Amino acid sequence: MSVPLRSGLVVAHYGRGWAVEDEQGDIFLCHALRRVPVPCVGDRVRWEQTDPGHGRIVEVLPRKTLLTRPGRGGRLRPVAANLDQVLIVIAPEPPYDLLLVDQYLVVCENHDLTPLIVVNKIDLLDPARRQRLNDDLAPYRALYPVLEVSAKTGLGITALRDALKDKASMFAGQSGVGKSSLLRTLIPDRDVRIGELSATTRRGRHTTTTAMLFHLPEGGILIDTPGVAVFGLAGIDFRQLAHGYREFRPYIPRCRFNDCRHVDDLGCAVRKAVEQGEISQARYRRYLKLLGKLPEIS
Ligand code: GDP
Ligand code: ZN
Repeated sequence: MSVPLRSGLVVAHYGRGWAVEDEQGDIFLCHALRRVPVPCVGDRVRWEQTDPGHGRIVEVLPRKTLLTRPGRGGRLRPVAANLDQVLIVIAPEPPYDLLLVDQYLVVCENHDLTPLIVVNKIDLLDPARRQRLNDDLAPYRALYPVLEVSAKTGLGITALRDALKDKASMFAGQSGVGKSSLLRTLIPDRDVRIGELSATTRRGRHTTTTAMLFHLPEGGILIDTPGVAVFGLAGIDFRQLAHGYREFRPYIPRCRFNDCRHVDDLGCAVRKAVEQGEISQARYRRYLKLLGKLPEIS
């Protein structure tokens, strides 16, 4: 006897299990059929119930976007599907690392994800730090939305909520910048069901999740991937890196050589634009650093 398939949304991922939310908002702990692609948080799936509270995923619907991380044997593991945007969080403390910000941006640009730069802890900015921040962020403000917020005082949180409304978003950023504080601010009555579920999985009590999905009160989704490094440059080649520097794009077709890496002067339109002040020197220097980090034969 066949049971009709149901639609669901993957809201958490444990070692070998997935929490699937049905259309009523009830959550079922599921395993996945071997033949389906490994599901991840944010996936829309077709599934069938097996026992009370349990089920199996039989189909993963096509993904709009997909973020991955390198797993065992260098294979890429899916982490979050169907995201629209990434909130790149920085703060005056711990000191921000713009090389890391650029790396996040390159990954976003190559995965069709819209980046937003969120500067948290602006309550900590004194005039000197404010000046430095403005100088550092000037090239970014020309390219991306930059939101200044404080999870502590609530400043800028309304604008952040507006930016998240009806979108599927996730945080990226160094630890300590305030990602969990922002999450708590945005989702005050966070649903604890998922955490409870993890404690009752059949495969052991202390299964930890790699990613979890929350519904925003105003509509939209926020995915949290505590401690999962999904923004490495694995799989990015030199062309994608240059493409990830959005302001280079108009110049790239004008380089003399099709395989120009924008390092040597010879007929490079990007370098010329840097010399003429049309591209930020600081951004270009960071591009060169990231280029040096790519595997040799990319
Ligand atoms: P995460 O590692 O990115 O999740 O950062 P946390 O949310 O754990 O925050 C790290 C520290 O920064 C904690 O001590 C927070 O209280 C503090 N913090 C978070 N947001 C703010 C803020 O807007 N202003 C100030 N002054 N401190 C903050
Ligand atoms: Zn070039």
